[in-house]
Amino acid sequence: SIPLGFFGGIGAASRRGILIKGSNYLEALKDVSTVVFDKTGTLTKGKFRVNKVISSENWNEAYVLEFAALAESYSNHPIAISILNEFNKEVDKSRVKDYKEISGFGVSAIIDNKKVLVGNAKLMIQNGIKINESSDVGTLVYVAIDDEFAGCLVISDEIKNEAIVAVKTLKEMGIKTIMLTGDSKEISKDVAEKVCIDKFYYGLLPNDKVEKLEELEIENENGKILFVGDGINDAPVIARADVGVAMGALGSDAAIEAADVVLMDDDIRKIITSIEVARRTRKIVY
Ligand code: ADP
Ligand code: MG
Repeated sequence: SIPLGFFGGIGAASRRGILIKGSNYLEALKDVSTVVFDKTGTLTKGKFRVNKVISSENWNEAYVLEFAALAESYSNHPIAISILNEFNKEVDKSRVKDYKEISGFGVSAIIDNKKVLVGNAKLMIQNGIKINESSDVGTLVYVAIDDEFAGCLVISDEIKNEAIVAVKTLKEMGIKTIMLTGDSKEISKDVAEKVCIDKFYYGLLPNDKVEKLEELEIENENGKILFVGDGINDAPVIARADVGVAMGALGSDAAIEAADVVLMDDDIRKIITSIEVARRTRKIVY
């Protein structure tokens, strides 16, 4: 066979659908000792489904879903898309005023002169809203109308099969695996157990993810850290990692721009291919 070094590792990688933005990243890739994954859209499909709508006494399910859909109508977060899919009707955006996306928390808007908040428990706590905890398993999206708890949507995501394979293979290669997420402890624990990841950190805001990565880089002195994300809210972490990897198909322009490596077809098993190509290239070059 033709030695890979003949073509160079970047060419070999590109033929496998992996864009490596420079030979210095090929150098870093061969020394990767820890792989850090974002959860939503990276280990999971990021295609949420609304399983259940719960309402408080003063509201009903149809209103809760409608207000949630209106409030989310300007967001492109996977959670927002699932709520709009479940609503499955035309949304009259002219009813939505003062829309704000609160990264890592949810959204707020004025709808029909009512103050509406849609997001996680942290968003509700921050706004002094008392919520009824639900025992349902899933990502819980709370809805508050005029500072009063109106209801909750139970949303679920699916784990990617490739994620299970990728984590298993990385562990066999002696590489440590970690997950970072803004989601709740319960969901994070469930995903972490299902993909058999070594360690996970939850409840992180986009900036907390950057800080956590910096901490991990200090701990991980003998090797490089690779971070892989889908790009929704995580471009700063991709930019900060020794090797930042973005999904090419699903990822945002900002993430692709910030990344050192782009997986053209979003298959996270290609992280392993990237490391293997980098290791093989060195053997031939030196
Ligand atoms: P992850 O870290 O899993 O990729 P994000 O950082 O995108 O997730 O979001 C963290 C959490 O913030 C979500 O699990 C959700 O609870 C909440 N959230 C973020 N954006 C929205 C939104 N548009 N609507 C409702 N909740 C949201
Ligand atoms: Mg994400």
